[in-house]
This record gives sequence, structure tokens and C-alpha cells, in this order.
Amino acid sequence: MIVLSGGTGTPKLLAGLKEIIEDFAVIVNTAEDIWISGNIICPDIDSVIYTLAGIINEDKWWGIRGDTFKTHERIKEMGLGELMMLGDLDRATHIFRSNLLRDNKNKTEANLILARSLGVRQKVLPMCNEDIRTMIRSGREEMHFQEFWVYRGGRPRIDDIYFEHIEDARMTKEIKDLIREEKNVLIGPSNPISSILPILSVGKMRELLKDKYVVVVSPIIERKPVSGPAASFMNAKGIEVSSRGVAEFYKNIMDVFIVDYRDEEEVKIEGVEVCKTDTIMKDSEKREKLAKFIVDLL
Ligand code: GDP
Repeated sequence: MIVLSGGTGTPKLLAGLKEIIEDFAVIVNTAEDIWISGNIICPDIDSVIYTLAGIINEDKWWGIRGDTFKTHERIKEMGLGELMMLGDLDRATHIFRSNLLRDNKNKTEANLILARSLGVRQKVLPMCNEDIRTMIRSGREEMHFQEFWVYRGGRPRIDDIYFEHIEDARMTKEIKDLIREEKNVLIGPSNPISSILPILSVGKMRELLKDKYVVVVSPIIERKPVSGPAASFMNAKGIEVSSRGVAEFYKNIMDVFIVDYRDEEEVKIEGVEVCKTDTIMKDSEKREKLAKFIVDLL
């Protein structure tokens, strides 16, 4: 099975999935990657790798459980800010991966070595090797996604969200091989615009998924995202903030749509089976239950 992932909702599902099956690979959004203090941070890949390694901080779904922030604090005390709060152990990940890139490994190779070094058995693949940047346009200002979300707390009005250099992104050999081999694709509850749209925009990804059996879990419940900025991004792209809106977005590639049982609206899309179940993964039991529901379906 192939899982497409962002950095919060789908990792929760992966935490459940890894308790049930071992044989899956994850293709991860890298459009939010950013270089900070000399090293590349791949926020979504880090969350996926830490989840599969069993070391994710489950309170936030980023960073390593029990990490300290001494280096980050010291840099601040010395008078230089750092755009993101980076933990000390987390920083070791970023240094390790960046050293591999400096040693002429590509992003795929670097992340495969990183995941293996943390004991992850599954392949965790960046959506492409090129550097793509999610940018937010707010009035006359253009800013990197991380500046919008981390530094400015998601407050600026969003007029547009776009992916700089996405037209240069090529599907990697590793992803092409995976797609040739696998029939089932799971799109977890991820932000459809900032996490999944960049993945679908790489090369012929969207076309190739039309021939797969694609299961999608809705990240929207009762017209609200469970967390994160999905609502403002969907609004900016003219997509209704509801499971119906999510279904419209995926309708050409999706075979099964999993909606939360709390959601009262009826979703009807020709050729798509709609299932209702509990999708709020607030603890490990709920995460495994949803993962099992999906595995049984496949
Ligand atoms: P984010 O929007 O930047 O956090 O990026 P992600 O791609 O990680 O998106 C997380 C999405 O998953 C958000 O739109 C949330 O609404 C959704 N989400 C988070 N936790 C859950 C959950 O437990 N259940 C469901 N159904 N959705 C979730």
C-alpha cells in the first residue's frame, strides 16, 4: 500500500497502521521544507519518520518526545532568531540529512538513509528531489508557508497559495517503481491544499492515481478541520470547507471516501463508495481502529 501524507493528520493514522501491517510506503509532501540555521528542515517527512520510529511527540505531532531546546534558546539569547522551534535531538536529524545532501546525495537517498538510521522499516519518500516552496500571497505580500504559519501564527489573510517551482518537479525513480508495483493508495486526513495538492502536482502523479484503488479519509468534520489551516486554504482555492468540498477535490482519483460519523451532510459522488466511521484519532486505540477499518476495506 502507498500512503500519501502531510505532517499531522496522516502521521496519526500511520501510528495506528504500523501496529497492524508493516508493508506500506509513504510519499510525503516536501513543499514546506525550509533551510534554517544551515540545515534543511522537512517538517512533514520528519513527522512521518518520527512516527514510524515511535519517537514522535504525540502532543504536537512534530518533534521528538522529551526533546530539549537548549541550542534554540542559546541562539535566541545570542541575538539571532530562529524561524522555527527546533529541538536538540531534532536538530541532529536536520544536520544528519543536510550532511548527506552536502555529500551529493539527493533528497530521496538522504531521507531513506535517515529513516533507516532511526530504525524505520517502511520506505519514506519525498514527493520529488527538487526544492519546491509553498508560498502565501496576502495582499501585496508574498511569504513562505512557514513564515505565514509559524512566525505570523497563520493570521495574515490568504489571497492565494501556490507552489513555487512545482513545474520543475519530476517524479523520482523510486516513486515510479512504487506506483508500478502497488495497487492500493491511501490518502490520510491531510490538508488537501498544502499537503496533498503539491504531491498530486508532481509530474503525472494525478493521472497515474486514476488507475489505482484510492481511499481518502476526510480531514474535515462538520464543516471544520480538526486542526490546522485547511479551511483558509480551501477557501482561497474556492473549495467548500466540508467533506463534500473534499470529495469534489478528489473525485477524479478516489474510489472510497471515509467520512466521520459525526458529519451530518450526505456526500454522493458517482462511482465513489462513501463509508462513515469514527475518524477522530485522539488516542492509540482510536488510531488503530481507524487503520484496521481501512486495512479491512482494502
Ligand atoms: P496541516 O493542515 O498543516 O496540519 O497539515 P496536514 O496535512 O497534516 O493536515 C492535517 C489535516 O488533518 C487537517 O486538515 C486536520 O483537519 C486533519 N486531522 C488532524 N487530525 C485528525 C483526526 O484525528 N481525524 C481526522 N479526520 N482529521 C484529522
